Amino acid sequence: AQSNWRPQWQPDKSTKTCSTCSKRFNVLQRRHHCRHCGRVICGSCGKNKHRVSLLKFGYHEPVRVCVSCHERCTQAEELMAAISGNGFVALEALLDAGADPNFSTLVFTPFMHAAAKGHTKLMQLLGERGADTAYHVPPLDAPVQVECEGCKRRFSAPFNSKHTYACEGCNHATFEASEAHACVGMSALHAAAARGQTKACQWLLQVRERETERVTET
Ligand SMILES: [Zn+2]
Ligand SMILES: [Zn+2]
Ligand SMILES: [Zn+2]
Repeated sequence: AQSNWRPQWQPDKSTKTCSTCSKRFNVLQRRHHCRHCGRVICGSCGKNKHRVSLLKFGYHEPVRVCVSCHERCTQAEELMAAISGNGFVALEALLDAGADPNFSTLVFTPFMHAAAKGHTKLMQLLGERGADTAYHVPPLDAPVQVECEGCKRRFSAPFNSKHTYACEGCNHATFEASEAHACVGMSALHAAAARGQTKACQWLLQVRERETERVTET
């Protein structure tokens, strides 16, 4: 399932070998961490070409991930692209190939993305394949990554609702609207309503009504 919590990093000292290829670490073979699962990996298992941006964790620029997380994230990106293009056949093929309907690298889940786009046929398909239709974006404990507009220094700060962060170096206040933090508590219905997708809203409300009826009948 979707999680918007940054993973805890596996402690360096807990392992002498790469969690992916089992190569031993030494002075030349240094430890790195997968930003998606937090496991310790070697440099060749977290290559430059394996970088992905993980907006759900507040990483806007591509970050290092392990080989298996890279595969999972790439498949998730393809799934989201199919939804963006209203590609029913493409989406079905990805789900048949084992893509997780509840996993994305973005703040929205695939189902929320389909709702925001107003693609009700895709919402139906995702629901049938086990998408969590009641998902709400959970609170994010990850700090906001800020680049100072004044001195260009990068720093991280705890989220604040004014989206304004004072630089520790030059004291300049930078506005940084973190998408992940701004979406906390959002559901598919919020996503559809925010984009004026009336059909998707109606569809979601009908599903909810049917579920309520089923609960009260039994
Ligand atoms: Zn390795
Ligand atoms: Zn990983
Ligand atoms: Zn500054």
